[in-house]
Amino acid sequence: MSSKDPQHRQLHGFFFPLMAYGHMIPMFDIARMFAARGVKATIITTPANASTFSNAAERNRLLNLDINIQILQFPAKEVGLPEGCENLDDLDSLDMIHTFLKAVNMLQQPLERLLEDYQPDFIVADFTLHWATESAAKFDIPRFVFHGTNIFWQCVEHSLNCNKPFEGITSDTETFVVPDLPDKIEMTISQVPDPFKVETSFTEMVQQIKDSEIKSYGVLVNSFYELESGYADYYRNIMGRRAWQIGPVSLQNKNTIDKAQRGKQSTIDQHYVLNWLDSKEPNSVLYICFGSTSRMNNAQLLEMTMALEDQEFSFVWVLRKTQNSEEKSFLPECFEEKMEGKGLIIREWAPQVLILDHPSIGGFLTHCGWNSTLEGVTAGVPMITWPMFADQLYNEILVTKVLKTGIRAGTQKWNLWFETDYVSTKNDEIKNAINQLMGDGKEANEMRSKARELGELARKAVEEDGSSNTEFTSLLEELRLYKKPPT
Ligand code: UDP
Repeated sequence: MSSKDPQHRQLHGFFFPLMAYGHMIPMFDIARMFAARGVKATIITTPANASTFSNAAERNRLLNLDINIQILQFPAKEVGLPEGCENLDDLDSLDMIHTFLKAVNMLQQPLERLLEDYQPDFIVADFTLHWATESAAKFDIPRFVFHGTNIFWQCVEHSLNCNKPFEGITSDTETFVVPDLPDKIEMTISQVPDPFKVETSFTEMVQQIKDSEIKSYGVLVNSFYELESGYADYYRNIMGRRAWQIGPVSLQNKNTIDKAQRGKQSTIDQHYVLNWLDSKEPNSVLYICFGSTSRMNNAQLLEMTMALEDQEFSFVWVLRKTQNSEEKSFLPECFEEKMEGKGLIIREWAPQVLILDHPSIGGFLTHCGWNSTLEGVTAGVPMITWPMFADQLYNEILVTKVLKTGIRAGTQKWNLWFETDYVSTKNDEIKNAINQLMGDGKEANEMRSKARELGELARKAVEEDGSSNTEFTSLLEELRLYKKPPT
């Protein structure tokens, strides 16, 4: 077979994540999946974000994977952001998000120059980069959307949009059923995202995203068929959209280095964490992490420390900067000393998948970002769900009501951002949730065994004959046969 045979030529894909860790991390894993199948993978990012990818890209190049990085200058100064402010994690307010997105939108032309220069065969771009569909169309190549979340969310939003079952409801406590879905999904009006109810500063962008998704080639999803099969069928058959479930993409990270250096360099030595976990009994440690963006206010943090002190289980707690990050010491005096042996506190960045995969981890208190939720599912652990904003409330519903592998804590009110200045969960509620999840009650044991089963299904999905692997193979075959529309 000649190398010019279209079915055997090397494909080239662009992978363009939004500059936020929850988007960049899974996009890198996806780029690596393509590269592992012989595709040349080019990651598009900005100067201050390149280091997130560079070590992992270098390690993969040593394994002969064709992964490289293309840098676009980020127009921070032009829009009035401080120089070097290039990641969602650098932003402190909603106003800054709008300014940040303005700068992100200015990347369309530089992207098109790269498309012109390199003529890739396809592009996978973050959903927020809605203009990428138009850019791809100019070069007659497929644009895939990456939301970074599941299909369940898309289906619930579709039904909310079409049926508006919340209309006429005024009480925050009254529940309604979201119609036509594979399961009976109940919500309250306060869980429904604001853009369904009122005009917000994001209304126009939400519409642009929807339009660009409909015109795109399809959606790549970090989940696996068995996890949300009813919703995957609904998405394809009722909503008429194309999606390839190719996850869990975190399983691309097989060795300790890849797990330890995923995203950011962790702020704790991986051997220290592993030794600490090795000293604990199986299923005895609660892992607590609120993702890469959320920040707690100090009053809520104090409630958390009181709960952790009072409850009996060991824990690893990843503590990020708080909303009042100017305060240097936000933990009560001597808290860390008092917790020595029982609790390990990691500041800023933990090697999350390395920790979750350890046999001593028996539960995960998560903010329900989709990556974290799926990483918890993959590790086979039950969860305490503590959503803070955006799609996280939907992920909580999926875990607690559909999968039935978790119990609730945290807010039941949809927020656009993590700017909550109130205490959503009191110390007693946190303590009770931990004791219930980590304890030996019937409900906890049932959740534990369901979680374990799902973890096994997740791993099978990426094996040779697994559902995700099979969908990925058929996607690659389709891309190899893709013919540009006649001009
Ligand atoms: N993460 C990590 N260490 C941390 C915090 C987060 O490795 O200390 C990773 C986590 O494994 C996940 C991602 O960062 O892959 C966070 O994405 P998620 O969707 O859970 O939440 P977001 O940060 O977008 O709110």
